[in-house]
Amino acid sequence: MKRILILHTGGTFGMVPMEPDEILVPGNLHSEWLNQVPEIARLAEIDVEIPFNMDSSNVSIAEWEILVDIVGRKMDRYDGFVIIHGTDTMAYTASALSFSLLNLRKPVILTGAQRPLARLRSDARGNLIDAIQVATMDIPEVAVVFGQSVLRGNRATKNSISSYKAFVSPNYPLLGKIGLNVELFRENMLLTPQPFRIDRGFSDEVVALYIFPGSDPRLFFPLLDSGTKAFLLIGFGAGNLPENDRSWIPFIEKATGKGQAVFLASSALHGRVDLELYAGAQEAARAGAVGVKGMTREAALVKLMKLCATYDDAGKIREYFFTDRAGEIEP
Ligand code: ASP
Repeated sequence: MKRILILHTGGTFGMVPMEPDEILVPGNLHSEWLNQVPEIARLAEIDVEIPFNMDSSNVSIAEWEILVDIVGRKMDRYDGFVIIHGTDTMAYTASALSFSLLNLRKPVILTGAQRPLARLRSDARGNLIDAIQVATMDIPEVAVVFGQSVLRGNRATKNSISSYKAFVSPNYPLLGKIGLNVELFRENMLLTPQPFRIDRGFSDEVVALYIFPGSDPRLFFPLLDSGTKAFLLIGFGAGNLPENDRSWIPFIEKATGKGQAVFLASSALHGRVDLELYAGAQEAARAGAVGVKGMTREAALVKLMKLCATYDDAGKIREYFFTDRAGEIEP
C-alpha cells in the first residue's frame, strides 16, 4: 500500500458554524474529522499532520515555507502528499510550492471544499478521496484536485465562490479528469531529468495594481519610492492600459528608470497577454513593461515573489520570469 501524508492547513473543509450567526471559523480539529471518512484507510497508509489551521486568507510566506519544509524533509518517507487548504488562496500556495519543490518525482496534491465536511451535501469527502487516490498515482507535479478535475497547481485559479467546480486552468489543459475512473493525461504532465531540489525564499517587495477606467496613476507614485522590486499591473484584455490624460505610461517609465521591474497581466482569465496588439500596450512595452503571456495572476505574482527573494536587478528578474520553473509558462 502507498504511504500518503495529509497536511491539514484549514479552510472551509474543516470549518464549523459558530453561533449565533453561523459564521464559519476554523474548527478545533485534530484527528476526529478523520473518523468521518474512515474509507480513506482503504486507499493508502495515511498519516496526518496539522501544521496550521486557518482561513486561507491568512496564509502568507511563513506558511508556504512551513509546507515546503515539511514536504521537503519527508519526501523520502511518503509516496505522495495531500494538502487540505482553503480555496481562497489555494492557487497561490500551489504556485509557491511548485516554484520551491523543483523537479518533483511525487505528487503534491492540494484540495479543499466549498462546504464543510460536517455539513450535509459537502464536497469535502469526495474531494479528499479523489485527492488521496490521485496522490497514490504517478504524478510528478504540484496539482490541485477539486470538483473532479486534476489541474496543474500553478495554472489553476479559483473562478467560483459557490460552484463545486471552483477551479479552472484557463490556459493549460487538465492533468486529469475524475469520473467513473481516474483518467490521467500524461502528455500534459511535467517530465524532467533534473534531480529534485528545494528552492526556499519569497520576497514581499512585490506590488500588484489593478487598473480600472478612471484610475489615477499619480496616486501610486509614492510606491515608486517604497522599495518595491517588481510591479504587476493588471490591465485590460491583451494587456492594455490607459495612455490618455490618465496615462499609466509615466508610472512605468519612472519605475523602469528606478530599476524596478514592471509586468503586465490581464483582468481577463483566458488567453495570452500580447503587448503588440494595441497602441496602449505597445506604449507600455516601449516604457519597459513586459507581458506575462498566459500565466495566471497568482502564478505571476508568486513567481515575482520567488525571484525578488534572490535578485535585485530588474533585468535578471525579467530574464528568469520567462524561464520556466514548473510548467507555469509556455516556452
Ligand atoms: N475562506 C475559505 C478559505 O479559503 C474558503 C474555502 O476554503 O473555500 O479558507
